[in-house]
Amino acid sequence: MATAYFFNDHIPVDYMQKTVIGSWPIFYADHGRDAIRMSVEDQAGAGADLVSDGQTRNYMVEYFSNLIQGYNCFECPIDFCNKDCGTGPVIIDRIDPDVVDDETVIEDLAYAVEISPRPVKGIITGPTTLVNCSRLDTDAYSSLYDEDLFTDLSDALVRIAKDMLDVGAHSIQIDEPFLSVGSPSHLAKYSIEYLCKRIPSDISLHVCGDVYKEIMDTITDEDRRVFDIVMGFRGVDSVSFSFAGYPQNKMVLGQYINGRPPKKIVVGCVRTDSERVETVNEVYNLLRYASWCAGEDNVIAAPDCGMKILSRDIAYRKLQVMCEAADKVASDLDHESSLVR
Ligand SMILES: [Zn+2]
Repeated sequence: MATAYFFNDHIPVDYMQKTVIGSWPIFYADHGRDAIRMSVEDQAGAGADLVSDGQTRNYMVEYFSNLIQGYNCFECPIDFCNKDCGTGPVIIDRIDPDVVDDETVIEDLAYAVEISPRPVKGIITGPTTLVNCSRLDTDAYSSLYDEDLFTDLSDALVRIAKDMLDVGAHSIQIDEPFLSVGSPSHLAKYSIEYLCKRIPSDISLHVCGDVYKEIMDTITDEDRRVFDIVMGFRGVDSVSFSFAGYPQNKMVLGQYINGRPPKKIVVGCVRTDSERVETVNEVYNLLRYASWCAGEDNVIAAPDCGMKILSRDIAYRKLQVMCEAADKVASDLDHESSLVR
Protein backbone atom coordinates (compact mmCIF):
# COMPACT_ATOMS: atom_id res chain seq x y z
CA MET A 1 0.00 0.00 0.00
CA ALA A 2 1.14 3.53 -0.67
CA THR A 3 1.97 5.43 2.45
CA ALA A 4 -0.65 7.79 3.74
CA TYR A 5 1.38 10.75 2.63
CA PHE A 6 -0.41 13.87 1.62
CA PHE A 7 0.31 14.08 -2.09
CA ASN A 8 -2.89 15.49 -3.52
CA ASP A 9 -4.77 14.80 -0.29
CA HIS A 10 -4.91 17.06 2.72
CA ILE A 11 -2.23 19.43 1.47
CA PRO A 12 -1.43 22.09 4.04
CA VAL A 13 -2.18 25.55 2.68
CA ASP A 14 1.41 26.63 3.12
CA TYR A 15 2.86 23.75 1.14
CA MET A 16 3.83 23.31 -2.52
CA GLN A 17 4.07 19.71 -3.66
CA LYS A 18 7.18 18.48 -5.42
CA THR A 19 7.58 15.53 -7.72
CA VAL A 20 9.71 14.09 -10.52
CA ILE A 21 8.72 13.21 -14.05
CA GLY A 22 10.20 9.74 -14.11
CA SER A 23 13.56 8.51 -15.26
CA TRP A 24 16.57 8.81 -12.98
CA PRO A 25 20.20 8.44 -14.19
CA ILE A 26 20.92 5.05 -12.65
CA PHE A 27 20.66 1.96 -14.80
CA TYR A 28 19.44 -1.52 -14.07
CA ALA A 29 22.08 -2.83 -16.45
CA ASP A 30 24.77 -1.50 -14.10
CA HIS A 31 23.31 -2.14 -10.67
CA GLY A 32 20.47 -4.64 -10.97
CA ARG A 33 17.71 -4.10 -8.46
CA ASP A 34 19.84 -1.70 -6.45
CA ALA A 35 19.31 0.80 -9.27
CA ILE A 36 15.68 1.09 -8.15
CA ARG A 37 16.64 1.52 -4.51
CA MET A 38 19.23 4.18 -5.33
CA SER A 39 16.77 6.04 -7.57
CA VAL A 40 14.08 6.12 -4.90
CA GLU A 41 16.52 7.15 -2.17
CA ASP A 42 17.98 9.93 -4.31
CA GLN A 43 14.59 11.39 -5.21
CA ALA A 44 13.20 11.24 -1.69
CA GLY A 45 16.51 12.43 -0.24
CA ALA A 46 16.49 15.51 -2.49
CA GLY A 47 13.02 16.33 -1.16
CA ALA A 48 10.45 15.04 -3.68
CA ASP A 49 7.05 14.18 -2.15
CA LEU A 50 6.06 11.77 -4.92
CA VAL A 51 8.78 9.67 -6.55
CA SER A 52 9.18 7.10 -9.35
CA ASP A 53 10.99 3.78 -9.52
CA GLY A 54 13.55 5.59 -11.68
CA GLN A 55 12.52 3.86 -14.94
CA THR A 56 15.93 2.29 -14.71
CA ARG A 57 15.50 -0.24 -17.49
CA ASN A 58 15.44 2.33 -20.24
CA TYR A 59 13.54 3.58 -23.17
CA MET A 60 9.85 4.16 -22.64
CA VAL A 61 8.51 3.25 -26.05
CA GLU A 62 10.40 0.02 -26.66
CA TYR A 63 9.84 -0.94 -23.06
CA PHE A 64 6.09 -0.60 -23.17
CA SER A 65 5.71 -2.09 -26.59
CA ASN A 66 7.39 -5.20 -25.22
CA LEU A 67 4.63 -5.59 -22.66
CA ILE A 68 1.82 -5.60 -25.20
CA GLN A 69 0.73 -8.56 -27.33
CA GLY A 70 0.67 -7.71 -31.01
CA TYR A 71 3.84 -5.67 -30.79
CA ASN A 72 7.26 -6.93 -31.64
CA CYS A 73 10.42 -5.09 -30.82
CA PHE A 74 13.00 -7.15 -32.63
CA GLU A 75 16.30 -7.76 -30.88
CA CYS A 76 15.11 -5.57 -28.08
CA PRO A 77 15.07 -7.72 -24.93
CA ILE A 78 12.90 -6.34 -22.19
CA ASP A 79 15.58 -6.40 -19.51
CA PHE A 80 18.03 -4.00 -21.07
CA CYS A 81 16.37 -2.29 -23.94
CA ASN A 82 18.92 -0.72 -26.24
CA LYS A 83 17.52 2.01 -28.41
CA ASP A 84 20.52 1.86 -30.71
CA CYS A 85 19.49 -1.53 -32.05
CA GLY A 86 18.11 0.28 -35.10
CA THR A 87 14.87 -1.64 -35.26
CA GLY A 88 12.19 -0.16 -33.07
CA PRO A 89 8.72 -1.41 -32.29
CA VAL A 90 6.49 -2.88 -34.97
CA ILE A 91 2.81 -3.70 -34.67
CA ILE A 92 2.65 -7.15 -36.23
CA ASP A 93 -0.81 -8.31 -35.23
CA ARG A 94 -4.03 -7.19 -33.65
CA ILE A 95 -3.27 -5.99 -30.12
CA ASP A 96 -4.70 -8.32 -27.53
CA PRO A 97 -5.63 -6.05 -24.64
CA ASP A 98 -6.44 -9.01 -22.40
CA VAL A 99 -2.84 -10.19 -22.23
CA VAL A 100 -0.02 -7.99 -20.97
CA ASP A 101 3.44 -9.30 -20.10
CA ASP A 102 4.08 -6.70 -17.45
CA GLU A 103 5.61 -8.80 -14.67
CA THR A 104 8.99 -7.07 -14.87
CA VAL A 105 7.68 -3.51 -14.76
CA ILE A 106 5.28 -4.44 -11.94
CA GLU A 107 8.01 -6.14 -9.91
CA ASP A 108 10.20 -3.05 -10.22
CA LEU A 109 7.38 -0.83 -9.09
CA ALA A 110 6.38 -3.12 -6.22
CA TYR A 111 9.96 -3.06 -4.98
CA ALA A 112 10.06 0.74 -5.18
CA VAL A 113 6.79 0.97 -3.22
CA GLU A 114 8.11 -1.45 -0.60
CA ILE A 115 11.29 0.49 0.12
CA SER A 116 10.25 4.08 -0.55
CA PRO A 117 9.62 6.49 2.30
CA ARG A 118 7.37 8.47 -0.07
CA PRO A 119 4.48 7.47 -2.35
CA VAL A 120 5.52 6.15 -5.75
CA LYS A 121 3.75 6.90 -9.02
CA GLY A 122 3.17 4.36 -11.76
CA ILE A 123 4.16 5.65 -15.20
CA ILE A 124 2.82 4.45 -18.53
CA THR A 125 3.68 5.60 -22.03
CA GLY A 126 0.57 6.98 -23.70
CA PRO A 127 -1.09 5.60 -26.85
CA THR A 128 -0.24 8.57 -29.07
CA THR A 129 3.46 8.29 -28.30
CA LEU A 130 3.51 4.51 -28.70
CA VAL A 131 1.80 4.75 -32.08
CA ASN A 132 4.00 7.55 -33.32
CA CYS A 133 7.14 5.57 -32.59
CA SER A 134 5.95 2.39 -34.25
CA ARG A 135 5.64 0.87 -37.68
CA LEU A 136 2.53 -0.96 -38.80
CA ASP A 137 3.12 -4.35 -40.37
CA THR A 138 -0.30 -5.98 -40.26
CA ASP A 139 -3.66 -5.45 -41.91
CA ALA A 140 -5.45 -5.81 -38.56
CA TYR A 141 -5.61 -1.99 -38.59
CA SER A 142 -6.22 0.30 -41.53
CA SER A 143 -3.40 2.66 -40.54
CA LEU A 144 -1.49 3.92 -37.52
CA TYR A 145 -4.35 6.36 -37.06
CA ASP A 146 -7.03 3.68 -36.90
CA GLU A 147 -9.25 4.41 -33.89
CA ASP A 148 -9.45 0.67 -33.14
CA LEU A 149 -5.68 0.62 -32.66
CA PHE A 150 -5.95 3.43 -30.10
CA THR A 151 -8.77 1.61 -28.31
CA ASP A 152 -6.88 -1.70 -28.15
CA LEU A 153 -3.69 0.00 -26.99
CA SER A 154 -5.61 1.97 -24.37
CA ASP A 155 -7.25 -1.21 -23.06
CA ALA A 156 -3.83 -2.86 -22.70
CA LEU A 157 -2.50 0.23 -20.91
CA VAL A 158 -5.49 0.26 -18.52
CA ARG A 159 -4.58 -3.30 -17.57
CA ILE A 160 -0.96 -2.32 -16.88
CA ALA A 161 -2.05 0.75 -14.90
CA LYS A 162 -4.41 -1.35 -12.76
CA ASP A 163 -1.59 -3.82 -12.09
CA MET A 164 0.51 -0.85 -10.96
CA LEU A 165 -2.21 0.34 -8.60
CA ASP A 166 -2.59 -3.20 -7.25
CA VAL A 167 1.01 -3.19 -6.04
CA GLY A 168 0.59 0.16 -4.35
CA ALA A 169 1.26 2.86 -6.93
CA HIS A 170 -0.09 6.12 -5.51
CA SER A 171 -1.37 7.38 -8.86
CA ILE A 172 -0.74 7.03 -12.59
CA GLN A 173 1.21 9.35 -14.87
CA ILE A 174 0.75 9.08 -18.63
CA ASP A 175 3.76 10.19 -20.66
CA GLU A 176 2.82 11.70 -23.99
CA PRO A 177 5.81 13.61 -25.41
CA PHE A 178 4.35 13.26 -28.89
CA LEU A 179 1.33 15.42 -28.11
CA SER A 180 3.48 18.48 -28.68
CA VAL A 181 4.65 17.43 -32.12
CA GLY A 182 1.27 17.58 -33.76
CA SER A 183 -0.26 14.11 -33.62
CA PRO A 184 -3.96 13.90 -34.53
CA SER A 185 -5.57 15.62 -31.57
CA HIS A 186 -8.90 13.79 -31.81
CA LEU A 187 -7.13 10.47 -31.23
CA ALA A 188 -5.00 11.90 -28.44
CA LYS A 189 -8.06 13.29 -26.69
CA TYR A 190 -10.08 10.13 -27.29
CA SER A 191 -7.41 7.81 -25.90
CA ILE A 192 -6.43 9.93 -22.88
CA GLU A 193 -10.06 10.39 -21.84
CA TYR A 194 -10.62 6.66 -22.41
CA LEU A 195 -7.75 5.90 -20.02
CA CYS A 196 -8.92 8.43 -17.43
CA LYS A 197 -12.40 6.91 -17.31
CA ARG A 198 -11.03 3.43 -16.68
CA ILE A 199 -8.01 3.92 -14.43
CA PRO A 200 -9.26 4.33 -10.85
CA SER A 201 -6.72 6.84 -9.55
CA ASP A 202 -5.47 10.37 -9.79
CA ILE A 203 -4.13 10.86 -13.35
CA SER A 204 -1.29 13.13 -14.36
CA LEU A 205 -0.31 13.73 -17.97
CA HIS A 206 3.21 14.68 -19.00
CA VAL A 207 3.73 16.56 -22.27
CA CYS A 208 7.25 17.61 -23.27
CA GLY A 209 8.44 20.50 -25.36
CA ASP A 210 6.91 23.65 -26.80
CA VAL A 211 3.21 23.78 -25.94
CA TYR A 212 2.86 27.47 -26.74
CA LYS A 213 2.98 26.75 -30.46
CA GLU A 214 -0.15 26.07 -32.44
CA ILE A 215 -0.95 22.83 -34.21
CA MET A 216 -3.93 21.83 -36.31
CA ASP A 217 -6.64 20.59 -33.99
CA THR A 218 -8.14 17.72 -35.96
CA ILE A 219 -11.45 18.16 -34.11
CA THR A 220 -12.09 21.80 -34.95
CA ASP A 221 -9.86 22.01 -38.05
CA GLU A 222 -8.36 25.14 -36.57
CA ASP A 223 -4.87 25.95 -35.36
CA ARG A 224 -4.83 25.87 -31.58
CA ARG A 225 -2.12 25.96 -28.96
CA VAL A 226 -0.96 22.53 -27.81
CA PHE A 227 -1.45 23.78 -24.24
CA ASP A 228 -5.12 24.64 -24.79
CA ILE A 229 -5.83 21.32 -26.52
CA VAL A 230 -4.26 19.37 -23.66
CA MET A 231 -5.95 21.41 -20.92
CA GLY A 232 -9.26 20.41 -22.52
CA PHE A 233 -8.75 16.67 -21.95
CA ARG A 234 -11.41 15.60 -19.46
CA GLY A 235 -10.56 13.42 -16.49
CA VAL A 236 -6.91 14.45 -16.24
CA ASP A 237 -6.15 15.82 -12.77
CA SER A 238 -2.83 17.49 -13.51
CA VAL A 239 -0.65 18.15 -16.54
CA SER A 240 3.10 18.69 -16.54
CA PHE A 241 4.84 20.96 -19.00
CA SER A 242 8.43 22.13 -19.44
CA PHE A 243 8.76 25.78 -18.50
CA ALA A 244 12.47 26.07 -17.71
CA GLY A 245 13.77 24.90 -21.09
CA TYR A 246 10.83 26.40 -23.02
CA PRO A 247 10.29 29.89 -21.57
CA GLN A 248 7.67 30.65 -24.24
CA ASN A 249 5.41 28.15 -22.43
CA LYS A 250 5.12 30.64 -19.57
CA MET A 251 2.95 32.86 -21.73
CA VAL A 252 0.06 30.40 -21.53
CA LEU A 253 -0.26 30.91 -17.79
CA GLY A 254 -1.30 34.56 -17.98
CA GLN A 255 -4.82 33.55 -19.03
CA TYR A 256 -5.52 32.30 -15.48
CA ILE A 257 -4.52 35.45 -13.68
CA ASN A 258 -8.14 36.25 -12.78
CA GLY A 259 -9.40 32.71 -12.52
CA ARG A 260 -8.16 29.21 -12.06
CA PRO A 261 -6.95 26.53 -14.46
CA PRO A 262 -9.23 23.52 -15.08
CA LYS A 263 -6.55 21.19 -13.68
CA LYS A 264 -3.39 21.45 -11.65
CA ILE A 265 -0.28 22.46 -13.54
CA VAL A 266 2.94 20.60 -12.84
CA VAL A 267 5.48 23.31 -13.55
CA GLY A 268 8.75 22.05 -15.04
CA CYS A 269 11.17 24.44 -13.38
CA VAL A 270 14.63 22.92 -13.84
CA ARG A 271 16.08 21.96 -17.21
CA THR A 272 16.74 18.32 -17.87
CA ASP A 273 18.81 18.87 -21.03
CA SER A 274 21.59 20.93 -19.45
CA GLU A 275 24.09 20.12 -16.73
CA ARG A 276 24.08 23.67 -15.39
CA VAL A 277 22.44 23.61 -11.99
CA GLU A 278 19.91 26.42 -11.65
CA THR A 279 20.09 28.77 -8.70
CA VAL A 280 17.38 28.64 -6.06
CA ASN A 281 16.46 32.17 -7.07
CA GLU A 282 15.89 31.29 -10.73
CA VAL A 283 13.61 28.41 -9.82
CA TYR A 284 11.90 30.50 -7.16
CA ASN A 285 11.07 33.20 -9.71
CA LEU A 286 9.55 30.72 -12.13
CA LEU A 287 7.43 28.99 -9.47
CA ARG A 288 6.41 32.32 -8.04
CA TYR A 289 5.31 33.53 -11.48
CA ALA A 290 3.30 30.32 -12.03
CA SER A 291 1.73 30.73 -8.59
CA TRP A 292 0.71 34.31 -9.26
CA CYS A 293 -0.92 33.28 -12.54
CA ALA A 294 -2.55 29.97 -11.66
CA GLY A 295 -2.83 30.15 -7.87
CA GLU A 296 -0.26 28.41 -5.70
CA ASP A 297 -2.67 25.61 -4.80
CA ASN A 298 -2.78 24.70 -8.50
CA VAL A 299 0.98 24.50 -8.91
CA ILE A 300 3.14 21.42 -8.37
CA ALA A 301 6.91 21.69 -8.86
CA ALA A 302 8.80 19.20 -11.07
CA PRO A 303 11.75 19.03 -13.42
CA ASP A 304 11.04 19.69 -17.12
CA CYS A 305 11.24 16.01 -18.03
CA GLY A 306 12.88 12.75 -16.99
CA MET A 307 16.43 13.26 -15.72
CA LYS A 308 18.07 10.24 -17.32
CA ILE A 309 20.54 12.10 -19.54
CA LEU A 310 22.06 14.08 -16.66
CA SER A 311 24.78 12.80 -14.39
CA ARG A 312 23.48 11.45 -11.09
CA ASP A 313 25.09 14.16 -8.99
CA ILE A 314 23.69 16.95 -11.18
CA ALA A 315 20.21 15.41 -11.20
CA TYR A 316 20.29 15.25 -7.40
CA ARG A 317 21.44 18.85 -7.03
CA LYS A 318 18.85 20.14 -9.49
CA LEU A 319 16.08 18.34 -7.62
CA GLN A 320 17.37 19.67 -4.31
CA VAL A 321 17.40 23.25 -5.63
CA MET A 322 13.87 22.76 -6.97
CA CYS A 323 12.60 21.53 -3.61
CA GLU A 324 14.24 24.36 -1.71
CA ALA A 325 12.76 26.94 -4.10
CA ALA A 326 9.26 25.41 -3.90
CA ASP A 327 9.36 25.43 -0.09
CA LYS A 328 10.47 29.07 -0.13
CA VAL A 329 7.67 30.09 -2.52
CA ALA A 330 5.10 28.37 -0.34
CA SER A 331 6.35 29.90 2.87
CA ASP A 332 6.73 33.39 1.36
CA LEU A 333 3.23 33.35 -0.14
CA ASP A 334 1.80 32.10 3.13
CA HIS A 335 3.63 34.80 5.06
CA GLU A 336 2.47 37.51 2.66
CA SER A 337 -1.16 36.37 2.80
CA SER A 338 -0.99 36.35 6.61
CA LEU A 339 0.04 40.02 6.46
CA VAL A 340 -3.12 41.01 4.61
CA ARG A 341 -5.58 38.81 6.52
ZN1 LIG B 1 9.23 14.92 -21.12
